[in-house]
Amino acid sequence: MKAFAYINPANEKEAVAALKSGGTALPLAGGMDLLARMKDYIQQPDRIVNVKNALETTAVRTPDGGMKIGAAMKIIDLLEHREIPRVYPALAAAAGEIGTPQIRNSGTVGGNINQRPRCWYFRNEEFVCFKKGGNRCFSPAGENQFHAIFGNNGPSHIVHPSNLAVPLLAYGARFRIFGSNGERQVAASEYFTMPTPQNVQKENILADDELLTHVILPPPGNVKSGFYEIRYKESHDWPLAFAAVVATMNGNNVGSARVVLGAVAPVPWRSEDAERALVGKPLNEATATAAAEAAVRAAQPLSRNGYKVQIAKTAVKRAILQAAGIKTA
Ligand SMILES: Cc1cc2nc3c(=O)[nH]c(=O)nc-3n(C[C@H](O)[C@H](O)[C@H](O)COP(=O)(O)OP(=O)(O)OC[C@H]3O[C@@H](n4cnc5c(N)ncnc54)[C@H](O)[C@@H]3O)c2cc1C
Ligand code: SF4
Repeated sequence: MKAFAYINPANEKEAVAALKSGGTALPLAGGMDLLARMKDYIQQPDRIVNVKNALETTAVRTPDGGMKIGAAMKIIDLLEHREIPRVYPALAAAAGEIGTPQIRNSGTVGGNINQRPRCWYFRNEEFVCFKKGGNRCFSPAGENQFHAIFGNNGPSHIVHPSNLAVPLLAYGARFRIFGSNGERQVAASEYFTMPTPQNVQKENILADDELLTHVILPPPGNVKSGFYEIRYKESHDWPLAFAAVVATMNGNNVGSARVVLGAVAPVPWRSEDAERALVGKPLNEATATAAAEAAVRAAQPLSRNGYKVQIAKTAVKRAILQAAGIKTA
């Protein structure tokens, strides 16, 4: 590993100043993704800036009845929070599916949302693809079993790796960002970016001197929510596909809904077709089936990942059944 400086700021202002002070610098949270990339020679920053003492590690209720989560909060603390699992069950379910107890005990909310893609070409120093400043993507003609089935216009075909991002979009969360130009807030849906030739080396809108500091969840209202994840193996592994569903109820019928799929596209993938199939209807087996069909109708799998379409469909259907309180396998 290349030698680097370690900086341990005490607050967000100092952290941002350290990110900006020349050379390449990256924030360090739990370190599981960043240090692995450094050890594998994928990235070699001059400085790493520990954010665990600079950002908040807890979640508190907001005056409007929502929840403000510090980006340095550990995943395990989110999962074991006294209110989050009851008020935002799909978020807690997503957190509970991440890795192993040790991984949930080290990983943070900010690190999870900002972790880099798991594409095996990206993770291997020998493959200098678009994301590492190269001039090609190896996945379309290569081993694309775990790549995107939506949003496949390129130039990259990753799937976004964050479990937490998907229910956060479904609940309508906002992200607070702090940088040298001050603070800003964006909807979670505006944070993640589809790859273009201009931005292909990034997965979100953060500038190099900005940090994600908080996740802000709105009050839940009269919603039913569900989450379902399907993995290749039932141990620590990233999912093949998963879905979070948040339906605001109007009596017995769905007034409005957000259906978001994970591990299927370069960003958490919202399906407005599935949402339309739910609105005005009760949550039951028939509507779950129709919405799941609608969710995958526009899928464009690559040469070796067509099998993921059925898996994504099943994840959506079961997330809706979870929201309805109907037991799934
Ligand atoms: C075997 C294994 C299985 C896993 N399975 C899953 C899974 O199924 N689903 C899932 O979602 N995750 C999974 N993970 C990822 C894990 O949950 C962590 O979320 C992830 O490793 C990063 O969290 P971290 O706190 O260690 O972040 P770090 O490694 O410290 O940081 C990750 C990236 O985010 C940046 N960063 C960190 N904090 C901030 C911030 N506040 N603002 C801006 N940038 C920031 C860092 O610079 C770095 O680039 C798995 C990890 C492992 C090792
Ligand atoms: S999918 Fe993205 S990360 Fe993977 S090889 Fe192609 S450009 Fe690189």
